[in-house]
Amino acid sequence: MPDNLTFTIIKPTAFKNNHTGAILKMINEAGFVVKAMKITRLMPGQAGAFYAVHKDKPFYQSLVNYMSSGPIVVAILEKDNAVSDYRKLIGATDPTKADEGTIRKLFATSLEKNAVHGSDSDENANIESDFFFSKLERI
Ligand code: GDP
Repeated sequence: MPDNLTFTIIKPTAFKNNHTGAILKMINEAGFVVKAMKITRLMPGQAGAFYAVHKDKPFYQSLVNYMSSGPIVVAILEKDNAVSDYRKLIGATDPTKADEGTIRKLFATSLEKNAVHGSDSDENANIESDFFFSKLERI
């Protein structure tokens, strides 16, 4: 599994609040190269499949409703140690616990609406990239 790729989503509220440009600027300035990117939208069933690992959590239905509530930006990012470096750049899941200067600290509006998704392993980065991008789009 390559360790130089990760996958991100700019979530509906961050997109709606027009933070996409500022978030992409932070991503580029941290040394990531955008390898694929698009604006898209999830049907509830697709959001449910993407977050299936959380299906038994109390917040699952709310998360699915939220992630299918509006347009999102999805992207594949390249950098050495992409997964761990990107998790550092975005900060903790709970934005009140995220370090100063991280994407979630700057742009999240709640725990659920925490601005961005970032893959948590090389394996999931690959699975999540395949979820949104065709083989051709990934070249
Ligand atoms: P991540 O890998 O940092 O995104 O965190 P998780 O995989 O644990 O959770 C996935 C997403 O579910 C988070 O990014 C949040 O949007 C949402 N989430 C996590 N925990 C909670 C919670 O306790 N309540 C709510 N409403 N949403 C949560």
